[in-house]
Amino acid sequence: MKNILTIDLEEWFHANYHDDVFDNQKTYEVRILQNTERLLTLFNEHKAKATFFVLGYVAEKHPRLIRDILAAGHEIASHGYAHQLLYQQTPEEFKEDVRQAKKRVEDIVGTSVKGYRAPSWSITPRSLWAWEILQELGFKYDASVFPIETFLYGLPTAPRFSFHPEYNGKILDLLEVPSSTVRFLTKNIPFAGGFYFRALPYPVIAQCIKAVNKEGHPAIVYLHPREIDPEQPRLALSKKESFIHYYGVSRCEQKLIRVLKRFEFTSIEEYFKL
Ligand SMILES: [Zn+2]
Repeated sequence: MKNILTIDLEEWFHANYHDDVFDNQKTYEVRILQNTERLLTLFNEHKAKATFFVLGYVAEKHPRLIRDILAAGHEIASHGYAHQLLYQQTPEEFKEDVRQAKKRVEDIVGTSVKGYRAPSWSITPRSLWAWEILQELGFKYDASVFPIETFLYGLPTAPRFSFHPEYNGKILDLLEVPSSTVRFLTKNIPFAGGFYFRALPYPVIAQCIKAVNKEGHPAIVYLHPREIDPEQPRLALSKKESFIHYYGVSRCEQKLIRVLKRFEFTSIEEYFKL
């Protein structure tokens, strides 16, 4: 059975732990080109296809990178423009950010973008209005829901597998593709990306992917280019934030290779035939 691979295409500094982690107006070292090229090489070697949720900021700075990703057979989707948390924006601000980001990416690739993922999984009980706006903007699916609860994100009551969300008493056409979890006792446990992927040993991740497949669903694995880059500059973060952001980065690429060897991956667009 095929699983789904997703990449949030953003720079090493796009983190939302607090308001002033980064400033898009400042100039930072560029790490995304080499990190993404490395990912593309690995995906090519293992015949894996992925969905890349491209940040508008990145598309604007590196249009050629976006064309290279598309030419390598991957899906291009949107990660919004400026990497701001949804629940700190008004619906109008959100709509403008995403409209701009979608257009920017579509102008580069010349086809319509079908999918969206919110920065830091920030569709939460405070920002459910986002679903209706995404549908209005022409998106076919959203992949911004994490059915767990954390200090930064989570929609713990959401279904664990793809569903059509209900908003204002209407079932939307938009398909929601939540991040993967496994059930343990009465809890949803994350494993498939970011900190969880970096922290858990490979055999545990492999078992979790198999468990999700046994339930008849693809696992949705997600990573950021910075997560295979131990040389990246360090952000000014608290101890806890630093731990979440950098733990296991030096071993992440090797773990990813093992996962790519063992499991088959495709994009969201291809899996759901959107
Ligand atoms: Zn992101």
